[in-house]
Amino acid sequence: MTTPDFAAVLREASLRVTKPRLAVLTAVHEHPHADTDTVIGHVRADLGAVSHQAVYDVLRALTDAGIVRRIQPAGATARYESRVGDNHHHLVCRSCGAIADVDCSVGHAPCLTASDDHGFVVDEAEVVYWGTCPDCAAASSTSTTDHIRSTTTSHQ
Ligand SMILES: [Zn+2]
Ligand SMILES: [Zn+2]
Repeated sequence: MTTPDFAAVLREASLRVTKPRLAVLTAVHEHPHADTDTVIGHVRADLGAVSHQAVYDVLRALTDAGIVRRIQPAGATARYESRVGDNHHHLVCRSCGAIADVDCSVGHAPCLTASDDHGFVVDEAEVVYWGTCPDCAAASSTSTTDHIRSTTTSHQ
């Protein structure tokens, strides 16, 4: 995996290059769909003591600048990813909450045409595919002891 030049990414978005911003951007890039606590954990491993609020503030600044995308499937905590601008969608596991990327079927927003737009100018259709991930499907079909199912499995 080639690591983008995050300093250049920040400068292009007219954001000052700071260590917390670089650390948050790196964490989001390396851990797609991470929630805030996960991002904070990685940033702290990288920089040492950083407050929750500082990380929240950086995430908001990066999201506002369009460098980071915030997604929030119904019932889940907000997740962040650095894959932006391609209108990709997400598969979400109802059982463990694993999230996977799905390319936009059309390639640009909105990829679904409303059957009746009621005069609205539609610029985006938010598509979430809900279901069961392969790990959870395998766990429920091969095991009757539900409690051994690992919740720490990475789905990336
Ligand atoms: Zn699952
Ligand atoms: Zn994604």
